[in-house]
Amino acid sequence: MSTAPKLPPLSLYIHVPFCVKKCPYCDFHSTVEKQIPEDGYLATIKNELVHWRHKLCNDNRPLHSIFFGGGTPSILTGETIIQLLKEIRQLWQLTPQCEITLESNPESCHPQKIEQWLLAGVNRLSIGIQAFNQQRLDNLGRPHSLVEASKAIEYSQQGGFSNLNLDLIFATPSQTTAGWQDELAQAMSCQPKHLSCYSLTIEKETPFATLQQQGKITELSEDEQLELFTTTRQILESGGWHGYEISNFAKPGWECQHNINYWQSSDYIGVGPSAHGRLSQIDNNMITVARYVNRTRDYLEKQSSDGSSFSEERICSKRESGNDCLIMGLRLNEGMSRKTYRYLRGIDLVEQQPKAINELQKAGLLTVTKEKIALTNKGLLLSDGVIEKLIWVD
Ligand code: SF4
Repeated sequence: MSTAPKLPPLSLYIHVPFCVKKCPYCDFHSTVEKQIPEDGYLATIKNELVHWRHKLCNDNRPLHSIFFGGGTPSILTGETIIQLLKEIRQLWQLTPQCEITLESNPESCHPQKIEQWLLAGVNRLSIGIQAFNQQRLDNLGRPHSLVEASKAIEYSQQGGFSNLNLDLIFATPSQTTAGWQDELAQAMSCQPKHLSCYSLTIEKETPFATLQQQGKITELSEDEQLELFTTTRQILESGGWHGYEISNFAKPGWECQHNINYWQSSDYIGVGPSAHGRLSQIDNNMITVARYVNRTRDYLEKQSSDGSSFSEERICSKRESGNDCLIMGLRLNEGMSRKTYRYLRGIDLVEQQPKAINELQKAGLLTVTKEKIALTNKGLLLSDGVIEKLIWVD
């Protein structure tokens, strides 16, 4: 007998759209300001938080996780983070284990700020190290040096952040496997609880895309990228950081709860310019999803007094919700929940795609249990192709 769907956990994402300089590969929304309009930003975010609390006045879910992302959240004063978390606590209850992450860049990761973040209640710090090699940092146009990166890690650990993530980028032009092995060894020697290793994608309309068109940089070949991806998994897994998601590795028990919420098709409110949100509604034993996208331009200038003009709402079709669940869920090592897919799509994936599932299982790319559908290690390397065979197209 199938059980009725329940609302998933609720998270909160806060976008901080300021950076000290724009990295040439980045397409996230952020601006470089001579003077950061911190007061205006704080007032607008508070306004938007109040708007969401009113909109969700009948929704008494506590916040499961909070994530300050960017941009560069560590560019803000520690006082602003204290104010924001105080406001959030006045509006929502937090679960006892609520994970509160702040993304930081090495150049703004100072002992005084670290103390204030901890005081504010931040309990997970993510540092954008990106490379343990000065030449690669220069090639990536990062605003920090290798020395600053090491200091930021030292300050954070000495300051009291035990839940530390280091962000790294690999598959950058002319990177070698030997060099990457050395960088991974340096990352592991810092003993972070979590490592995020993303492969570089050259995004349209970035300075990197222009350099590529001009022939000044070349993306690594697929084989080279695959070799670096496999090397990453082998080295980190053997060091005790298990790959619980395609690009994310953690010591057992230190997986990022906020991102797991995304991959498990749970709910989140997004505040700040360009932030996205997702909310479920239960209807007739099915889950309907509404998505929200915040304005990027003029976010600070065009605020309405009740915060209602921040985002556009769109109700997703069953096809979109099912496909999102599949694309996100298969990123996880444990796989996608068949039950969640069924509530979103209205049919079990195995019933919907029996032939494709059978073929992928026979090819050793997919495993199917009563609860989950997951990629095998071999399937992980060919994930795009596997997902393509399973997504629902009319
Ligand atoms: S610091 Fe981060 S968000 Fe800012 S431009 Fe660089 S990569 Fe993008």
